[in-house]
Amino acid sequence: MVKKLFHYIKSFALWELLIGLKLTGKHFFARKITVQYPEEETPRSVRFRGIHALRRYPNGEERCIACKLCEAVCPALAITIDSHEREDGTRRTTRYEIDLFKCIYCGFCEESCPVDSIVETDLSHYAFLERGENILDKQKLLAIGDKYEAQIAANRDLDAPYR
Ligand code: SF4
Ligand code: SF4
Repeated sequence: MVKKLFHYIKSFALWELLIGLKLTGKHFFARKITVQYPEEETPRSVRFRGIHALRRYPNGEERCIACKLCEAVCPALAITIDSHEREDGTRRTTRYEIDLFKCIYCGFCEESCPVDSIVETDLSHYAFLERGENILDKQKLLAIGDKYEAQIAANRDLDAPYR
């Protein structure tokens, strides 16, 4: 009987509603944690794996020696490399392509590269507007590397203790 009475009192007092409003009130005055993306962004790890880049040495020479380790290790078969031998006996790629529709951003290519040539930058703001733009060819990869070399090098220095 007492239990039933208590139940009626709670119903008339809109008890559940008050419980809900208490929770709303608690969050209404709390510090807001919603990030207004894209105007604001959360911090990103230096190990973030974004779009790829091919790097050069400071003298402008391509780092890539066309060893094809990245192509062999890629689990998604996203990398295609053709190569040739130069007159000085060194080997360079004639074709280096990454299909970003196949890529799963695992980072194996970067890990396998013996000369720190192929890397994944921390750039995540890119989109494909035309058919075929998902294929990053050598020129595009080198251009990304040239443009963001300072950032890539800084991130790799920060990341070095964890490798
Ligand atoms: S990140 Fe992984 S899947 Fe993407 S190209 Fe490199 S090895 Fe292949
Ligand atoms: S990017 Fe690195 S692993 Fe891939 S072919 Fe060039 S040197 Fe070899």
